[in-house]
Amino acid sequence: MLGFHLTSEQLSLQKTARQFALTRVLPVAWYYDEKDETPLQVIREAFEAGFVGADIPEEYGGKGLGLVESALITEEIAATCPGLATSIFDTSLGMEPLLLSANNAAKKHYLRQIAEKGKLAAFATSEPTMGSDVAGIRCQASADGQEYILNGTKYWITNGGIADYLSVFATVDPKSRHKGICAFFLEMDWPGITVGRTIPKMGQRCSNTVGINFKNVRVPKANILAEPGDGFVLAMKTFARTRPIIGSFGVGAARAALEYSLDYVKKRQAFGAPIAGFQAIQFKLAEMYQKIETSRLLTWKAAWESDQQLDNTVSASITKLYATETALEVVNEALQIFGGYGYTKMFPLEKLLRDVRLLRIYEGTSEIQRLILSDYLLKKYQPGLPPLEDLALHRQNDPLDPQAPPATDTTWRCRICGHVHYGEEPPEECPYCFFAGSAFKEVTTG
Ligand SMILES: Cc1cc2nc3c(=O)[nH]c(=O)nc-3n(C[C@H](O)[C@H](O)[C@H](O)COP(=O)(O)OP(=O)(O)OC[C@H]3O[C@@H](n4cnc5c(N)ncnc54)[C@H](O)[C@@H]3O)c2cc1C
Repeated sequence: MLGFHLTSEQLSLQKTARQFALTRVLPVAWYYDEKDETPLQVIREAFEAGFVGADIPEEYGGKGLGLVESALITEEIAATCPGLATSIFDTSLGMEPLLLSANNAAKKHYLRQIAEKGKLAAFATSEPTMGSDVAGIRCQASADGQEYILNGTKYWITNGGIADYLSVFATVDPKSRHKGICAFFLEMDWPGITVGRTIPKMGQRCSNTVGINFKNVRVPKANILAEPGDGFVLAMKTFARTRPIIGSFGVGAARAALEYSLDYVKKRQAFGAPIAGFQAIQFKLAEMYQKIETSRLLTWKAAWESDQQLDNTVSASITKLYATETALEVVNEALQIFGGYGYTKMFPLEKLLRDVRLLRIYEGTSEIQRLILSDYLLKKYQPGLPPLEDLALHRQNDPLDPQAPPATDTTWRCRICGHVHYGEEPPEECPYCFFAGSAFKEVTTG
């Protein structure tokens, strides 16, 4: 059942994506980063190459590729510019709530526009006063006949200034939290929508990030993606599809840092020899490599699970957490390997470090991923081992000795200190922790 090889089609896709990244993205990345501008032409070229919205199903005019294929494409583009990778992939994020919705008419119309005409979609849950707490959305949706009226502001919206469409999450009642969240698919040229100035950022400056204001924006009910109460789940399902791709951003950026380092350590001399000869440097490279390989495996697994229609919420969360945290570590170590040159704008590490820093923040911060994982562990995880109180760690007789008489007495275990007692009844009092006999439980396994 397990296989880690890529098919010939996937290998070919990976090769084409790498070629695109090296010839179309890498040469422009630093210029547009410095300019703090998104090169629309490159996004158009990525669309023409089949890399934008690659996972739109064939019935809507798309290529019908899986998330694994998207992960392969994204790693290659992110290796040359994580910011442009964010912009190129953002249409997938923006259209995902539509794809996951039950609104077939909207799917038929808008997905075809994206797949065939290269229209761009963006995604909006975050607001100026709220990001992690999606149930705390304040953007107000008020029903009015066959329409909803939207009022409020979304913030941090990637591609918000260049997108044609927007998946927007709002609430019919901020006080009702999850129960009030709904979602709509908007056309960005509808009256009442105002795009703010481009937010100046530390990194990923090739990706456009803006605030978007809604003043009495009339949204036809035909554009509902989630009715009030269903929007929160739709947002979470969207993240389960997109978080593996954030893993690919991390893998791509970290791989770039490693590859630049491999080149540098063979050429840079210190103490009369290439620094590649120092074990301290070699161990850094080994650490970097194992983190990248682990991240890629996690990314592919989470993407594969999604392609198999499995619930990948947990694996997507692990991927997002691990691949983004280790990407930052890897890029940071690479910068260290470059010494002073790593800290300059003449070498690629400083941009990579700025770009990769964002990965731990958007699409659910590292802290939120830890919350998701710990919540899963404490509420849903199915252990393979028995509970502690059912372990008879200490036994009356040697369990491997065939001559030993079978234990006839009942085994009791103190739930407080773990003491195991043999007898018809538990002791009146534990001889170790002095708790009453009621603290003892009859051991059923072991
Ligand atoms: C460049 C960029 C692009 C983005 N693109 C988009 C986009 O396209 N669409 C969109 O909707 N959003 C987008 N975002 C928003 C992004 O998803 C949010 O910034 C992110 O979810 C965090 O929200 P916040 O910034 O409001 O931080 P807050 O939610 O205010 O959190 C602040 C800090 O507190 C921590 N924290 C919050 N709650 C808890 C908790 N319960 N337990 C422990 N720690 C907690 C957080 O981890 C964080 O460290 C983007 C952000 C940036 C910077």
